Amino acid sequence: MLTIENLYKSFGKLVAVNDFNLHVKEGETAVLMGPSGCGKSTMIRMINRLIEPDSGTICVSGTEVTKLDLEGLRRVRKRIGFVFQQFNLVGRLTAVENVMLGLVMDGIPRDAAYDKAMKALEKVGLEKRAQHKSAEMSGGQQQRVGIARALAFEPDLMLWDEPTASLDPILVREVLVIMEDLAKYRASSMLVVTHEISFAIHVADRIVLMDKGSIVEEGMPEDVFGHPASHIGQQYKELIE
Ligand code: ADP
Ligand code: MG
Repeated sequence: MLTIENLYKSFGKLVAVNDFNLHVKEGETAVLMGPSGCGKSTMIRMINRLIEPDSGTICVSGTEVTKLDLEGLRRVRKRIGFVFQQFNLVGRLTAVENVMLGLVMDGIPRDAAYDKAMKALEKVGLEKRAQHKSAEMSGGQQQRVGIARALAFEPDLMLWDEPTASLDPILVREVLVIMEDLAKYRASSMLVVTHEISFAIHVADRIVLMDKGSIVEEGMPEDVFGHPASHIGQQYKELIE
């Protein structure tokens, strides 16, 4: 589903992502963790080329993303859902209008877009809030609208970059519950960047630990957090104890 080989990215002298290799299978949820500044966002943004890699290859569902022209890239981006830390909703629009926006811009007729948007809002438990202005919703609900916006395209791959990082602690849980649901359902493969360690333990099929641009350890949660082989893994283990 997702294969990344020998991926590199530098900003000037700083090597942000250094020979990164990763394979995520169909329906699998991989959780990527590591200290701030270790290159997680740079890595995940290269998957749909929000950031251009210096070298390396990225394949999503058999398409080599790194080779695509703009038109091809536009097509493949529809199959990749991206949820960011910032929700980036249009506050004066309702929840359902926010979810419809991308669909309509993609040429889907309004009626069909509305139905798809409502279906996506159901998946995040917000069908009853569909007609509320997003600016009037809680942060947790806004992020759930953000998730619905990604799900509306029925993506093969969902990318998550710290989706709960800007939420009040009491609102984090409602977003994690949705993510856990999606992981269980296995409709998309998921790559999740998060510091939520208990989510990682319970939901990840695989943990990938990163430090200074490279993967330092990778495996099933019980192995990585139970018997860490890396310094970073050891630090996470101590956090759990
Ligand atoms: P993380 O998401 O793990 O916190 P980032 O991928 O955001 O890490 O950043 C990795 C490194 O690259 C950091 O040292 C950061 O300061 C640097 N960096 C990220 N984006 C840029 C940029 N556009 N220009 C220069 N340096 C950047
Ligand atoms: Mg980041």
